[in-house]
Amino acid sequence: MERYYWFVFCQDELLLEADNALPYGSDSPVPLEPWHTMHRLPLLEGVPCRAVRIDAPVVTGGFRMVGLRQSYGVLSPAAYAMAGKAREILYWDANTKFCGVCGAPMRLHTDISKRCTSCGKEVWPALAPAVIVAIQRADKLLLVQSRNFKTDYMGLVAGFVETGESLEECVRREVLEETGLTVANIRYFGSQTWPYPSGLMVGFMADYAGGELKLQRAELRKGGWYDAAHLPRIPERLSIARRLIDAWLATQPQTGVNT
Ligand SMILES: [Zn+2]
Repeated sequence: MERYYWFVFCQDELLLEADNALPYGSDSPVPLEPWHTMHRLPLLEGVPCRAVRIDAPVVTGGFRMVGLRQSYGVLSPAAYAMAGKAREILYWDANTKFCGVCGAPMRLHTDISKRCTSCGKEVWPALAPAVIVAIQRADKLLLVQSRNFKTDYMGLVAGFVETGESLEECVRREVLEETGLTVANIRYFGSQTWPYPSGLMVGFMADYAGGELKLQRAELRKGGWYDAAHLPRIPERLSIARRLIDAWLATQPQTGVNT
C-alpha cells in the first residue's frame, strides 16, 4: 500500500508528530470526514504527499500543531517548501468552493485546477505578486517598519503589484508612496514563494536617486538610513527581506554582527 507524507492543516497550523516529524503512512493521521477534500501534492524525498484541511486543531495522540512560519525552524527546507505549497492549495480550495460565474459547486479537475459542475468555468490557484526592495544610498540602507510587523524589527519597502503594472513600475510606485523617494538602477535579486496565504515575493536592489525621506504613516511605523555597523533588529532568515539585507551587508566593508 502506498505511503504518504501528510500535510494536515487547521487554518495555518500544521500537524506534526511530537518529535516534529511529518506524519507518514497510508492513512490520514487523523480521521477524515466526507467534506474533507484530500489533495495530491508532488513528491518529497521520493515520497508522495497529501494535503488535507481539518476543522479543529489536534493536540492529543502524540501530535502537536505548529504554525507554518514556526515550522521553518523544525522542518527541512524541502519539507517547509512543501508545507507552504500544501497551505496554498488548501487556502485556494477553501476559497473556491463555488463558481464565481454561476454559483454552482466547483469540483477538483486536476491536482491544481477546479472546474464548475454547471458552466465548466476553470480556476487555478491564484498568486498575489509583491515586490520588495533594498534601497542603498552611499554606505547606508533604507530600513522601515511596516505597521503589519508584529515584532520590533526593521525590514524593507514592499507592496503588492497592481493590475496593469510591471514589477519595475511597482517598485518605483511603492517606494515613492511609502517614502517620498525616487530610485534608479533597479536590479532583480531573486524571488520567494510566500504562502501567507498565497504570495510571490520578487526582490530587487535599487539606488537612491532623489527626494527627502517622508514616511507614509498609514503604512509605516518608522524608518531610516542605516550603515552596516549600526543595524537594528532585522527580519528572520525565513524571508527574502533578510536575504536582500544579507546580500547588501556582504558588499559593505564593515559588517555588523547579526544572527
Ligand atoms: Zn459555473
